[in-house]
Amino acid sequence: MPGPNSYAHVLLPLAVEGRFTYLIPETLQGQVLPGQRVVVPFGKKRQYTGIVRSLEDTAPEGRELKPILQVLDEVPLLEESHLQLWDWMASYYMCTGGEVMRAALPSGMRPESESRVRVNRGYEDRGDLDARERLLFEVIRDQEEVSVGDLDVSGIPGDPLKLLKQLVDRGAVELNEFMTRGPRLKRREYLCVAETHTSESARKALEEDLRRAPRQLEILRILLENQEPMPGGKIGLARPLLMEAGISASALTALLKRGILVQEIREEQDAGDGEVLRKAHELSKHQKTALADIRALFEEKHAVLLHGVTSSGKTEIYIHLIQDMLRSGKQVLYLLPEIALTTQIIGRIRRVFGNRVGVYHSKSSDADRVHVYRNLLGHTDDPPYEVIIGVRSAVFLPLRRLGLILIDEEHEHTFKQHDPAPRYHARDTAQVLALYQKARVLLGTATPSFESLYNARSGKFGYVTLSQRHGEVEMPRMVISDIRQATKRKQMTSFFGPDLVQGIRDALDRKEQIILFQNRRGYANYLMCLECSHIPKCHRCDVSLTYHRISGKMECHYCGHKEPVPHACPSCGSTRMHMKGMGTERIEDEIGLLFEGIRVGRLDTDAVRSVRAYEKLLQSFARRELDVMIGTQMLTKGLDFAHVSLVGVLDADSLLYFPDFRAFERSFQLISQVSGRAGRRDTRGTVVVQTMDPGHPVIRCIARGDFETLYADQMEERQAFSYPPFSRMIRVSFRHRIPSILDSACDMVARELRDRFGHRVFGPQYPPVRKVYLDFIKHIHVKIERDASYERAKVLLKEVLEPLKKSEVYRAVRVSVDVDPY
Ligand code: ADP
Ligand code: ZN
Ligand code: ZN
Repeated sequence: MPGPNSYAHVLLPLAVEGRFTYLIPETLQGQVLPGQRVVVPFGKKRQYTGIVRSLEDTAPEGRELKPILQVLDEVPLLEESHLQLWDWMASYYMCTGGEVMRAALPSGMRPESESRVRVNRGYEDRGDLDARERLLFEVIRDQEEVSVGDLDVSGIPGDPLKLLKQLVDRGAVELNEFMTRGPRLKRREYLCVAETHTSESARKALEEDLRRAPRQLEILRILLENQEPMPGGKIGLARPLLMEAGISASALTALLKRGILVQEIREEQDAGDGEVLRKAHELSKHQKTALADIRALFEEKHAVLLHGVTSSGKTEIYIHLIQDMLRSGKQVLYLLPEIALTTQIIGRIRRVFGNRVGVYHSKSSDADRVHVYRNLLGHTDDPPYEVIIGVRSAVFLPLRRLGLILIDEEHEHTFKQHDPAPRYHARDTAQVLALYQKARVLLGTATPSFESLYNARSGKFGYVTLSQRHGEVEMPRMVISDIRQATKRKQMTSFFGPDLVQGIRDALDRKEQIILFQNRRGYANYLMCLECSHIPKCHRCDVSLTYHRISGKMECHYCGHKEPVPHACPSCGSTRMHMKGMGTERIEDEIGLLFEGIRVGRLDTDAVRSVRAYEKLLQSFARRELDVMIGTQMLTKGLDFAHVSLVGVLDADSLLYFPDFRAFERSFQLISQVSGRAGRRDTRGTVVVQTMDPGHPVIRCIARGDFETLYADQMEERQAFSYPPFSRMIRVSFRHRIPSILDSACDMVARELRDRFGHRVFGPQYPPVRKVYLDFIKHIHVKIERDASYERAKVLLKEVLEPLKKSEVYRAVRVSVDVDPY
């Protein structure tokens, strides 16, 4: 007879609305707790791993309940405060609890019928699997890569999902997202310069000696420049890292044979254990004041905005705050935007905190993510990490003693997830998390988002500024270069105005380095027929195709479609097709023609497809093997190079005229960030910003470094048009193949919304790119006043959208809701 706590409300990783209630069978009574993973049946034959949200005394009427099949965890994975955060996200971002669950748990933690499984190639079989585990392990090995539901488990007693979970925990098999970069080594080979050659004089002699063996000399150089402290003292370089530098294997063998290099085997460990840790830097006077202010403000505010110019030492201040936390036994979550998460920053933090630091990256394999997750739960051999450096999804990690969340580059829009749901903003989510966990939040940036600055100015956040670069390095000199004038006067050399050409020449003469920023990848932005003005477009999307030199093809940046370059205009047959606009590839070409012998690197998503390639490029720039680095906004992130004296922004206008109410804010942020790369050590840098419109108010603010005026103007405008932060924006987007169906669906919804929300409804309208992947897209925006009831608004919105799903005609229209979409 069912009694108290006989039922469980279970979250399933599905986008389906609804509350799933399961019966707790007699055998599992008393063993089921909120926050645990359980296996439940779903539909006719599928099984899912779900999370128990709560226990219930009563069941919904009139339905026969299915029982929970297995409990996967003895101790709950998640505490109430984590589950509360999930609830908040589902409610605030208007998605299902299942969608939150999918984002929150690494897929290896939720085995289910549709999961793909295979043996982990890096697994070292130490014979510690029990009989049933071994059976399943062998089945998986024999079937290679299959979905869990298709595994032939007929000969294995017990529940296969539970066994599977044990195999995943042991690292014997992998689920879903497989590691692409080989097995995780337990032991690692390092290469070191033999002790007899380590003295300065011996090394000089050696280099002399290797003159005639350039490939060996190259290896030696790479090793000397990249060697790091190894676990247990000495310095060397991990062999895989050396190999990735593209060295010759036979030259390496020769060096080993000659005893110049030696190989050492070490237990793999995170960089820097006890011996090699360094102390945090002593702070400067300004930094000390800022730190003291932050500490004091944390007494009364849950969040503080640290607004410090580039290179002012924000990271050093973070390090001191991390120390505070660790001393009091608390954990720190250090959030960084996607592309800023480089070894540069990880290395800096690890050099101080060693292997107390864990990294949670979106490029980590799922197995690595499972490892971090389990480590924090105390399920691994090593003690739980005390500092987690991670990207936005790290807000879901089960930190149990969270004291501080650091959000570096808080203005970055990659903290917002656009697809799939939950469409959350990690900066905003972090604040809710901090609230539930009684932790503090520090937002750091050189160019605050206007929301955060608004929160700081209105007293919601504490506010601390650092206006000086560390070591009295001056802010760069800004040169606004009028390329409209230059064009008229025929002074342009390809895309370079006279200021930039002169600047590059001077920098090269002084053997300094140059960064050029252009926010478009590819070669030409589009092709245009000079006879009839036809522009080839993607047949699936409403965008022109970009010409890429590397592939020799026209590519669509929205759906990835590629096609050959047409010989003649597809519309009129003319052969006068012209390349228009400049992408990073083209600038690379042009600068090579302009300055003979110039060494150019390119940093964009085409040129660097892996973290490793990215780092190699950065290292090579840092070693001054390149004179110029051309790149997209990947360049703007906290990179610290000592010898860059010139930064060029080739086309500021393309940023300004982007159709988005944030375009000015973003332009200012991007240009300031990239400018911050100039002159970081001892010389004052120069920034040349090319524009057709030097009188533009934003350009004028950029020229003066005048953030305040820009902010004040923009806030006035946003208030007048009720944009965030003066309103909360909800975007409903609709997709369908047939424009007429899309139109009538949107019109109907808009009408219904206007009945309820009146003037707060905007649209429907097509976004700038109206068709993607054959689907037409339309948006309706609802702006809700800050003080209005958001709860009520959601109810009304659901009321309008719900009937669409049931309608014969509109059922196929795909609807998604994005809260705070920008
Ligand atoms: P930000 O994070 O504000 O861009 P960083 O913390 O990266 O600034 O500091 C810029 C550079 O100055 C770094 O190379 C850093 O190591 C150095 N630096 C900053 N503060 C100090 C300090 N107090 N002592 C020594 N070096 C410092
Ligand atoms: Zn034509
Ligand atoms: Zn396309």
